[in-house]
Amino acid sequence: MIENKTVVLLALSGGMDSATLLGYYLSNNYNVLPISFYYGSKHNKYESICVEQLLKHYKINTSFKINLDFIGNIFKSNLLHSGDDIPEGHYEDKNMKLTVVPGRNLIFASILAGIAESYNADIIALGVHSGDHEIYPDCRKEFIDSLNKTIQLSSDGKVGVQAPFINFHKKDILKIGYNLDDPFKVPYEYTRTCYKDQVLSCGCCGSCSERLEAFEQIGKIDPIEYHQDYY
Ligand SMILES: [Zn+2]
Repeated sequence: MIENKTVVLLALSGGMDSATLLGYYLSNNYNVLPISFYYGSKHNKYESICVEQLLKHYKINTSFKINLDFIGNIFKSNLLHSGDDIPEGHYEDKNMKLTVVPGRNLIFASILAGIAESYNADIIALGVHSGDHEIYPDCRKEFIDSLNKTIQLSSDGKVGVQAPFINFHKKDILKIGYNLDDPFKVPYEYTRTCYKDQVLSCGCCGSCSERLEAFEQIGKIDPIEYHQDYY
């Protein structure tokens, strides 16, 4: 790693928010260390393909993949292999609460904090945004502020938490990703948002519907292939 750059650790899931976060920090001349978590979700294996494509695209040679398979076996959530079906409908519908993985960001951030100190990283970055707030309590500003304070305390002031998209809608994140200068412009064809356990994104789970809505709002065609034709 290059010593004179600020190091940012970010949770790279392979979704469009974390892919944009990656492009955003790279374009701002940070040294980025992406960390991917595999926690037994139905969509992890498809996301991992996107993570590989994104790392290759941005020519990132150092990254870590963290295996948290026990979450999929022990925790209760429809997002996990052990849970019931992924609900369909809008992202902010109440039934999407079935996809909450209890404490997920708290667990991820704690691990990121440990890696950050080990690798002299100054910042942990999370790709949470305003569309997450209704359903996911660990994506709200109060939580991120509290997390920042806790990690600052636990690292003796060496590591802080940033969530630059926290007040943005999904469409704003897309605009940022498309407006980054080359070679940082985000290749959304290498991202996946669907929660379901199937090769092609379904287009009808809450997560797909939010993604499709965001592309429509900025007047662009989503470059990924869907199980059905949505255009
Ligand atoms: Zn879907």
